[in-house]
Amino acid sequence: PLIKDVMVPVATIKVGFSVYEAAKKIIEDRFNHLPVVDEDKRLVGIVTSWDVSKALALSKDGDLAPIMTRNVITVSPEDPVDLAVRLLEKHNISALPVIDKDRKVLGIVTGEGLSKLISRGL
Ligand code: SAM
Repeated sequence: PLIKDVMVPVATIKVGFSVYEAAKKIIEDRFNHLPVVDEDKRLVGIVTSWDVSKALALSKDGDLAPIMTRNVITVSPEDPVDLAVRLLEKHNISALPVIDKDRKVLGIVTGEGLSKLISRGL
């Protein structure tokens, strides 16, 4: 299967929002991973519940931009699923935003989602 067969929609947050707003969105939308986008909806970073916890532990409850990961590992819809598996393993992460040529966020592939796929025998 290809990434487009297994990706799911994901909520994003605009850069300029706060750590607090990211925390609220993660809880409301029940996602662990929140891709961060600019005004043109292009991917500029990612924050996870781990990043938000770390920011609060260090008393950095301000802008999202300084705490987000800027070097985001991504896949495209036409990539094979086994590339996603390799990237998750190699970088010790649990999700990959799926982006198009303009870096617009199309969805997300998570380790959890891939486990479900494998358990169904794909
Ligand atoms: N295993 C946990 C996980 O997968 O979230 C924690 C370890 S992981 C190295 C935590 C860091 O990875 C966070 O700072 C997060 O922003 C970053 N991260 C998560 N997904 C990412 C991705 N697709 N590309 C780059 N960094 C990512």
